[in-house]
Amino acid sequence: MRDYPPKPVHIYNRAVFLDRYGTINVDTHYPYDASLLEIIPRSLDGIKILSRLPVHIIVVSNQAGIALGIFTRKDMSNFNKELRSRVERASGRIDAFYYCPHLEPKNLTKGQMPCNCSKPAPGLLLEAARDFNIDLSKSFIIGDKTSDIVAGEVVGCTGILVKTGKGGKEEGALPIKTNIIVDDLYEASLVVQSLIEHEELEKVHAVVGS
Ligand SMILES: [Mg+2]
Ligand SMILES: [Zn+2]
Repeated sequence: MRDYPPKPVHIYNRAVFLDRYGTINVDTHYPYDASLLEIIPRSLDGIKILSRLPVHIIVVSNQAGIALGIFTRKDMSNFNKELRSRVERASGRIDAFYYCPHLEPKNLTKGQMPCNCSKPAPGLLLEAARDFNIDLSKSFIIGDKTSDIVAGEVVGCTGILVKTGKGGKEEGALPIKTNIIVDDLYEASLVVQSLIEHEELEKVHAVVGS
């Protein structure tokens, strides 16, 4: 589900999907109080780098705290708003926030079916791709859990695992294909930048060589 913006505006045909807890901000176990928002060092610098690239920057996060009754959608929206304004003050942007308000597989009781949007399911990415007309095969996902990476890989995104947060060592970690593992969101953003620049260069060479 989309929390922001009310009306998606398509500008770029690719996206960098970002996990929130453990990737942008510190995972303090279901943080929802905007006053408790704690940014991971250098992550705003990373988003600033991404903001200069021709990509939509889209946060995708599991918000099982809503289904568990720990906080409301409004709390989550306020938290996202605060995060967005912190990013903007640091010369960056976040174009959209998508969230899964359902229980995560680990919270389900026997016989309950998982939803299609709780990562590692790719539902949030598919929804964003429809809204923004994004080519997922040209997009990236950056997260601290293997479930983030899997959600991207199953729809063709390039995954980048960061060592902040769980660092890919969460309980029930899944096998992932990515071999791009970096210290934090800042380094991940440099990787995205260099991959996109390299690709642009290849295009130029292709034209020159033809
Ligand atoms: Mg996370
Ligand atoms: Zn869901």
